[in-house]
Amino acid sequence: MSRGLRSGELVLLTDRKGRRYLVSLVEGGEFHTHAGSVAHDTLIGGAEGMQVRTTRNAELTVWRPTLSEYVLRMPRGAQVVYPKDSAAILMQADVFPGARVLESGVGSGALSLSLLRAGAVVLGYEIREDFAQQAKENVAGFLGLDATERYQVEIKDSYRGIEAEGLDRVVLDLPEPWQVVPHAAASLVPGGILVAYTPSIVQAARLREACEAGPWAAASTMEVLHREWHIEGDAVRPEHRMVGHTGFVTTARRLAD
Ligand code: SAH
Repeated sequence: MSRGLRSGELVLLTDRKGRRYLVSLVEGGEFHTHAGSVAHDTLIGGAEGMQVRTTRNAELTVWRPTLSEYVLRMPRGAQVVYPKDSAAILMQADVFPGARVLESGVGSGALSLSLLRAGAVVLGYEIREDFAQQAKENVAGFLGLDATERYQVEIKDSYRGIEAEGLDRVVLDLPEPWQVVPHAAASLVPGGILVAYTPSIVQAARLREACEAGPWAAASTMEVLHREWHIEGDAVRPEHRMVGHTGFVTTARRLAD
């Protein structure tokens, strides 16, 4: 069912050159670019996908931002997990609605947003107060109240322990995930899944070694390569540029005692 754009909503304005602007609609507000301005009131009540003209006759298309568009534009303290990797992490961790997930560290909240949107109940451990605050604001800014009720962030060092029990999943994005492995083993249910994201393969190897020492099986490490294609008439070929590297995704499952 379609509903009109409302005051207070976030929208993404895109121009012909593919530039994107994230704007929060307010009654009486104005959006300005070098290509002219648009009154928010022209957008409020309108339909997603509508096209409008600026005062200097440039065309803009109006959308509600997707999660990945939001994540790449939201304020960030720490480096975020890229959407291609968040997608893989969700699938590797087999996140389901109501799953009890411990996430550490939460950083800017990009990965938290994906976990929450998949319906998980997320307990975040983060050592930096300012990042924890930023993550909570970013989550509220896109998912609103329903998700913030499922999102609790504590200022805790996950290398020192995990206080929760009966967790379904542990998802890590921090420098030394192997330090969390024994705590994850103590907190996960049998069959529970550990997933860690690491920029370096040396970190991944060290993590795998830690998993070999404990009640873990079905370990795997993978990376996601995302290559866009340029398609225009007969010019059909891969794009010249791609993001060459982000990180590795390592998964393991907790055995029964
Ligand atoms: N996945 C996040 C980014 C995490 S960046 C996102 O997508 O937005 C890594 C975070 O781990 C940083 O915020 C850092 O402060 C935090 N961190 C590092 N060591 C930690 C520890 N021992 N316990 C908890 N958080 C930790």
